[in-house]
Amino acid sequence: MRISRRDFLKWCTASAAAIGLTKIELEKLEDVVFAAESAPPVVWLQGSGCSGCSISLLNTIQETTIDDLLINKISMKYHHNLMTAAGDLAISAIDDTVSQYDGKFILVVEGAVPTANNGTYCVLSEKNNQPWTMLDAVKELGPKAKYVIAAGTCASFGGVPKAGVNPTGIKRLDKEILNGLTKNEIINLPGCPAHPYTLTKTIVDLLLYGMPRLDKEGRPQAFYKEKIHGLCPRRGRGQSSQLGESGCYKSLGCQGPRTNNNCPIRKWNNKVNWCVDAGQPCISCASEDVWQKPVYKFE
Ligand code: SF4
Ligand code: SF4
Repeated sequence: MRISRRDFLKWCTASAAAIGLTKIELEKLEDVVFAAESAPPVVWLQGSGCSGCSISLLNTIQETTIDDLLINKISMKYHHNLMTAAGDLAISAIDDTVSQYDGKFILVVEGAVPTANNGTYCVLSEKNNQPWTMLDAVKELGPKAKYVIAAGTCASFGGVPKAGVNPTGIKRLDKEILNGLTKNEIINLPGCPAHPYTLTKTIVDLLLYGMPRLDKEGRPQAFYKEKIHGLCPRRGRGQSSQLGESGCYKSLGCQGPRTNNNCPIRKWNNKVNWCVDAGQPCISCASEDVWQKPVYKFE
């Protein structure tokens, strides 16, 4: 049975004493429920990937907290790890969003999109008793979304699923699959995973200011303008001959000189640390060709 937000609130009000809700809690609940009704809708699809970008998102405390983002700033209409609905009810949330917010919702794509064999290597659901593939989904929803965000390296460039012989036929979402089909350019947020700050700040910026300035790879310049090497505190500190030592890792294969990202400034795990400071080189997880060759070379 489906229940509207208003009916849910009416039920909560009527049952407040029985379920132990105070007046303050009821007011908070009302704020949350109505914010979810009016906040910009987001549909988050997951294709071929490891869900790492979703896990990374849940680690957000900047620019806002993940609770604040999900409860007050946006209305997450579909995300198969975060929503409680399942089956037809979950999929109907996508259909409802598209019919109610055509041209107004944000589509986030996590994971790569297989195209071989009509996309049947990644099936999200069924429609009219036929498999509804990730390829079908992005082609159907991409042109109807106001903005499309490719979260992470798999969605942006193909990542792990595209590496090697690529039997599932992964293609780039922006330059191949949705090329010319969307109103705006696709926003690529590469990183394995996408950085939670980059992701949430991009969504918040879209809500406040609209389309960000992108570089030729579709990345917001604000986060990807500089090379890791240019921001690295170890630059010019002498070459290290062993991982874990404190010098520069260039002679150990560090990919920082060719990788655009802001890790040395933004860091990871809520500004605790980042790859090079943790004692290993940058492996260029945000680049188009990552995973196409061995990451480490042992002799
Ligand atoms: S450790 Fe890597 S990113 Fe840092 S200065 Fe050396 S080569 Fe550049
Ligand atoms: S330092 Fe390099 S490998 Fe590490 S997260 Fe940043 S881009 Fe990826």
